[in-house]
This record gives sequence, C-alpha cells and structure tokens, in this order.
Amino acid sequence: MTVHFAELTSPQVGELLTGARRPVLLLPVGSVEPHGPHGPLCTDHLISTGVCERAAHRLADDPDLRVLILPALPYGVTRYAAAFPGAVSVREETLYNLVVDVRETLAAQGFHHLVVVNNHFEPEHVATLRRAVRDTGAGYLDVLRRANVARLTAEFRSSSCHGGRYETSLVLADRPDLVDDGALSGLPENHVDMAAEMAAGRADFLAMGMERAYCGAPAEATADEGLSTFDTLTDMLVEVVRDVARRP
Ligand SMILES: [Zn+2]
Repeated sequence: MTVHFAELTSPQVGELLTGARRPVLLLPVGSVEPHGPHGPLCTDHLISTGVCERAAHRLADDPDLRVLILPALPYGVTRYAAAFPGAVSVREETLYNLVVDVRETLAAQGFHHLVVVNNHFEPEHVATLRRAVRDTGAGYLDVLRRANVARLTAEFRSSSCHGGRYETSLVLADRPDLVDDGALSGLPENHVDMAAEMAAGRADFLAMGMERAYCGAPAEATADEGLSTFDTLTDMLVEVVRDVARRP
C-alpha cells in the first residue's frame, strides 16, 4: 500500500474519509538552495521527504491512523544563498499562501489533520511556516524547538550546520548518488555559528563567512550517522502525528 497521497485515485482518497483509521497527511517542505560544492540543491526537501516516508512506514500498521504524504513543496524563502548559482527563492506571501491553500482545500474535503514537516531553517522561512500553521490549526514538526535540538547531533546543536556533517550525512543515507564525492573529499571544516551571525544582523552566506555556501564539517559525514539522525527525526514526527491525530 502506498504512503503517497497523490498516487491514490480519487475514489481511494474518498474511502480514506469513511475508513476506521483517521487520515493524517504530511506536507514535506524544503528549499532549492546551494549546500556547499558537494551537496544537492534539494537537500532540505530530501530530508523532509525521508522523515515523512519513515514515519508513514513506521505507522503503516497502526489500527487508528492512516498516514499519507502529500507532494513536497520544494520551494522556500531562500535569500541567504542568493549569491550562489541555483538558489531559487519564493516570497513569504507565496509560501504562506501555498501552505494555507493546500491546508484549506484538504480541510474542506474533510482532511482536518495535517502536519507540515520542514528542514530549511532560514528565519523568514521558518516564521512564515509557523504563521501558516498557527493561522490554519495545522500541526508542525518544529525541529528547532529546544527540546528537539537537544536530541540531535553535536554539529546541529552547534548551529554550524548548513551543508555540513549533519545534512550531508542525511543525504548520504538516502541519495548517496547526489553527493559529489570529489568535491566532498578534503573539504575543510568551516565553523560558523549561524545563530550568532544572524543575531548580529548578517543575512547572507558570504557575510557569515560561508564563501563556499556551507558551514560545519561535511567531510566527516557518514551514511550511518544519517540513518541514525533520520531515526531521531522520525521519533519526533511520530510524536507530532499522534498529538495532531488526537485533536478533534
Ligand atoms: Zn539545508
């Protein structure tokens, strides 16, 4: 049985509403954004989709829930990487309207339980998603919540983690073919505390000292670490799904 909503036929979607299991829909969100000289532009929604697929499979036999994944929203608010080829940004209102429209269309059909799953952390992007879920009552996997950050790797906790060991490990776990090995090997660690840089008012990668559009230590990435991080992110998402499913 598929876990992808858009692979169903219309009558099959109709049956979800009358079944014994409450349908919960997941909306993976990312960005099209440079991730160093080695990582794919699609890194963020690849991670979001990977977490959604694992959560859907983990809950596949749940007697009370039926979890399905909506087509991913690959575009986000991505201005920090504007100096590099391949950054494709949408405006806040575009992202907001897309999330709200998807949410409201589905709710009008009776799908009231939706969770937005995001792994692109530019502040304006995150603020827009938080506003969209607050205004529509959708659920949100908030990886940046303090309690969640504490469960993730040392690099993620250090906030020096764009296209670094954390994200590159996740890509290696699911799509190693998309990592440029030649560009990755020997890439030096570039320590940039992004949270501190942003707090100091710097709002693009070059000003932050990310001359090659990454920070952290991508050369230390491993598929094993990626699988372990996916496990942790899946734990978090399953908790949110169960929480959202309890709502009326
Ligand atoms: Zn990323």
